[in-house]
Amino acid sequence: MSGLVGWLAEQVDEDERRIEGCCHCGYPVTEISDLRWTHDGPWQGRRCPRRITGALPNPEPDQARREVAFKRALLARFANDGSTEAAVERGDISAAEYVTSQIEGLAVLRLLGEVYSERPGYAEAIR
Ligand SMILES: [Zn+2]
Repeated sequence: MSGLVGWLAEQVDEDERRIEGCCHCGYPVTEISDLRWTHDGPWQGRRCPRRITGALPNPEPDQARREVAFKRALLARFANDGSTEAAVERGDISAAEYVTSQIEGLAVLRLLGEVYSERPGYAEAIR
């Protein structure tokens, strides 16, 4: 599971980087006039990579930040940090509960991985 967790953490970091940029591609955006935008820097005047649209700023950056925080909380909750094994050793949870928690954690992380199914590394990470 650790390969999947690391890859997911990278995808969430990328989400965070894109919040301030174009909502399609993440490149920096700049305003041309009211309601018209273009990519900034070397991408000025260019369309989004692999899209037929032009640049648009993220319409809901605060929502996007909350989604990043939520995904990080999921990763922290389900990434195996050894605390579950410690709970078994203390007798706080049974071995069966431990196995169930591992299976559920992997299922949740694979669902999160579906969000990024078009990004490089998906096939290797989701195995
Ligand atoms: Zn774009």
